[in-house]
Amino acid sequence: MGSIEECDVVVVGAGFGGLYSLYLLRQEGFNVKGLERGTGVGGTWYWNRYPGARCDVESLQYSYSFDPELEQEWEWTERYAGQPEILKYAEHVSDRFDLESLIEFNTTVEAADYDEITSTWTVSTNRDTYQARFLVAATGCLSTTNLPDFEGLANFKGDVYHTGRWPHETVDFSGQRVAVVGTGSSAVQAIPVIAEQASELTVFQRTPNYSVPARNEPLDAAIQAETKENYAELRQAARVERSGIISIFPPNEDSAKQADDSEFDARMDERWEHGGFGFYRAYADIGIDQTSNERIAEYVRGQITKIVDDPETARLLAPTNTIACKRPCLDTHYYETFNSEHVNLVDISEGGIEEITVTGLRAAAQDFEFDALVFATGFDAMTGALLNMNITGKGGHTLAEAWSAGPRTYLGLGVPEFPNLFTVTGPGSPSVLTNMIMAIEQHVEWIRDCLVAMRQQDFTTIEATATAADNWVDHVNSVADQTLYPTCNSWYLGANIPGKTRVFMPLIGYPPYAEKCQQVADNNYEGFCLG
Ligand code: NAP
Repeated sequence: MGSIEECDVVVVGAGFGGLYSLYLLRQEGFNVKGLERGTGVGGTWYWNRYPGARCDVESLQYSYSFDPELEQEWEWTERYAGQPEILKYAEHVSDRFDLESLIEFNTTVEAADYDEITSTWTVSTNRDTYQARFLVAATGCLSTTNLPDFEGLANFKGDVYHTGRWPHETVDFSGQRVAVVGTGSSAVQAIPVIAEQASELTVFQRTPNYSVPARNEPLDAAIQAETKENYAELRQAARVERSGIISIFPPNEDSAKQADDSEFDARMDERWEHGGFGFYRAYADIGIDQTSNERIAEYVRGQITKIVDDPETARLLAPTNTIACKRPCLDTHYYETFNSEHVNLVDISEGGIEEITVTGLRAAAQDFEFDALVFATGFDAMTGALLNMNITGKGGHTLAEAWSAGPRTYLGLGVPEFPNLFTVTGPGSPSVLTNMIMAIEQHVEWIRDCLVAMRQQDFTTIEATATAADNWVDHVNSVADQTLYPTCNSWYLGANIPGKTRVFMPLIGYPPYAEKCQQVADNNYEGFCLG
């Protein structure tokens, strides 16, 4: 039994959300404690060390904006930073602002209980216990891995990996027969790199995914210098963009279905060649009009057919569903990889993985032998990490009970019946549909302002009202219902986890959201009950 430590705020998670929370709250004089289950900082970028892991947001934009000196001194080396570089950046931020001294590592929250009499949270971990007025859950949107309950998995005598829990030691697949299960963003990045090492690589695909070339390259020194000169303007411009990302292609209101053939082809070719998410924003109605969407989807299918030599493999790789309905992928030679003799694609859309055996797995009515299995099967997104903390609020009710019909928050920041709990980029906020670091900064600054305002006004508790949360959930859904997003089985809806309630979890549209948060704060936290 460990000791009990008291503090003002417990921050769970030492990824970008946790680090910034610790920095800002300490700056305001709060006694803060960070708890992190890993041995170091970095969150997503600490855990996802799989070969090829790289951020799909360009490095100059996937970084903190809060400190101009930090912005100027850090030098990115590639257009999109790889996982090791982003992890170094997180470590640099932690060192530079002396944040590590505030964090307990190797510390997993096992329960968090709210005491209505003392208005405090008791946070129990595998080590010590903490008591705090406020609990900030900076636990990430994609941090609880999903390893499906495959029959026979424990029997496999080779090595088993999940992309989201990759070992710290170098994994060398040289000379090995490797299986990759899954074809989402993680797999799309890992497959080409694993294929460079493995003697045989077999990819098990349940649903094909659309992917567009990232066109990663060394970062041009002149572009970096120019961006740094104009960083403040660039960041501000990003904050009024729905994606939170500035592209060389300005936003437009054009409709794909109305474009004539030559204009359409020229625009899509240009964006395909340039690479990156700008491709998915070529036409404004990709996400709201099925005909326009299908035209863009058909363009990508055409590219796959051109790249992949074997017609049957090309056919299997070509998705038929709505493009950019699931989180779109960016890649470096993903489709090209399937032209290698030693890379095979197995369609498991009918029967899935039937069984893991001692020496491999059975799927598509065949037995396969492998030295290593790599599961790129994703995450229990947005709610997984929050629910894993076993949070109990007022009246002894658990968060799992409160969210049995799907997550119910106000602004993705507060939960009725769970006073003094803040969720950084929680469900109901734009989070994963915008630039995560920008979304994190906005949330953490809002939480900081809120705690400072409460202290000034002598309030000790804040709780989202049930009405505000209900209206907010309706709002999140009604915005989603105006788009094609709810029409496919994505993790945005929780559809990738068997039994999970299907509710569209992130809010579409960052700029109006940030305005709304500001308005709520300006109106003395309207929709929250202060006590
Ligand atoms: P994911 O997108 O959820 O993909 C999981 C894959 O595993 C899918 O192909 C899925 O097939 C398959 N799968 C799941 N359960 C399965 C089962 N029981 N049997 C067979 N196949 C199964 O997960 P992810 O690739 O880890 O990506 C998750 C999110 O993380 C991304 O959408 C993105 O937001 C983020 N991410 C970002 C980056 C980046 O910025 N570069 C990189 C990686 C990940 P179905 O489609 O049929 O369900």
